[in-house]
Amino acid sequence: MTKIPTVTLSQLGELAERSPVLIFGAGAVGELLLRLCEEADIQISGFVDNNSGLAGQLRYGLAVYPPARALAEFGDVPVVVSAADLGDIVDQLQALGFTTILPGGPLLRHVNHSRYALSAGEDFTEFTATTCAQCHDAYLDAELIFLRSVDIVITERCSLKCQDCANLMQYYEKAENCDLDEIRGAITSLCSVVDGINEFRVIGGEPFMNKEIDKVLEMLIPENKVRKIVIYTNGTIIPRHELIPLLADPKVLMLVTDYGPLSPRMDKLLAFMDTHRIAYHRRPAENWTDCARIIKHDRQPEANQQIFRECCSKNTFTLMSGKLFRCPFAANVDRLGAVPDLPNDNVDMLAPSEHATLKAAVNALVFKKKTLDACDYCDGRPLNAPHITPGIQVKQPLKYVKLASRTTG
Ligand code: SF4
Ligand code: SF4
Repeated sequence: MTKIPTVTLSQLGELAERSPVLIFGAGAVGELLLRLCEEADIQISGFVDNNSGLAGQLRYGLAVYPPARALAEFGDVPVVVSAADLGDIVDQLQALGFTTILPGGPLLRHVNHSRYALSAGEDFTEFTATTCAQCHDAYLDAELIFLRSVDIVITERCSLKCQDCANLMQYYEKAENCDLDEIRGAITSLCSVVDGINEFRVIGGEPFMNKEIDKVLEMLIPENKVRKIVIYTNGTIIPRHELIPLLADPKVLMLVTDYGPLSPRMDKLLAFMDTHRIAYHRRPAENWTDCARIIKHDRQPEANQQIFRECCSKNTFTLMSGKLFRCPFAANVDRLGAVPDLPNDNVDMLAPSEHATLKAAVNALVFKKKTLDACDYCDGRPLNAPHITPGIQVKQPLKYVKLASRTTG
């Protein structure tokens, strides 16, 4: 991990008097940092962002530059990072030639969001700014493990059969629920070694296909290290009445993906959540990329490192089969037996282990990986990959080459 300096707001102001200063990340936290700087009379010259869709656009009154373009335009100037994945941004910007990369998180610690008129809602900005500050703290303190999000897969079963499902559900021939003891053991073990998890995402398949979802929520809600629980659902199932008290807990948010005609109960589900004061966010199925093929590429190690470096999914930590993985692709090809045993790609959270040994293994998986062995079986997920039509349905599970026995079932 590369060491980088931290600055106070007044030190940033001194830097800005000598040189243009840029903010990396043109999202809600980037806007908050911009407003903070404006209030302190610190001039910001533009945003840097990996989202190619924003290139050349104005955000909050400033131009957005892709990283290489920003270097060409301004030279090696200070860049304040507002994105949570600080380590990845540091590696990327240093590889390009930027030498003064500053974490924005410490500047956000005591900010009162309500003083600014921000584009995103106050709750959302507060949530993302706190996530950014905690992730940056963890980067700056080698002892801390703070995870922005962890996916817990509770079932392989889904009410839809999407050909391009990024979680590879289209490959499961006899889809089944994940073992509850394994789920519980993995959550307990992970929470014992990390300092915090901003968002635990309960996913499937379709998580409401698993009738034991209540047991998972009953475990996650009182867990102090988990800040938010987000249930990803596809608008095809109305949850059972007994689940209402759990779903209405202030820690729980339903994230409902709207597949149009494939989500026939959407209106009923929204009415159900409104009636029972269940917090939710509805979004269309969009921005899908072609990332679900399982193919052995036999790339050179450097090529796989590049695939990993450019992958937008490499920090989608996933708990599945009692193991912690870096991404859902690695978790599911392991479970499907679509790759040989790749022990370097995961930490077995259920294996008997000393606390310090387990913590060191999780720390190494989270912070020290330069690639995964599974990347050689994956097409990768670069941010600028072309979008495909979401939600195309298949009638039969897709075929794949089995290289190991399936983890369960
Ligand atoms: S709805 Fe589609 S994309 Fe979502 S988990 Fe099911 S199969 Fe995958
Ligand atoms: S296997 Fe590698 S390239 Fe594929 S999604 Fe995971 S981290 Fe990204």
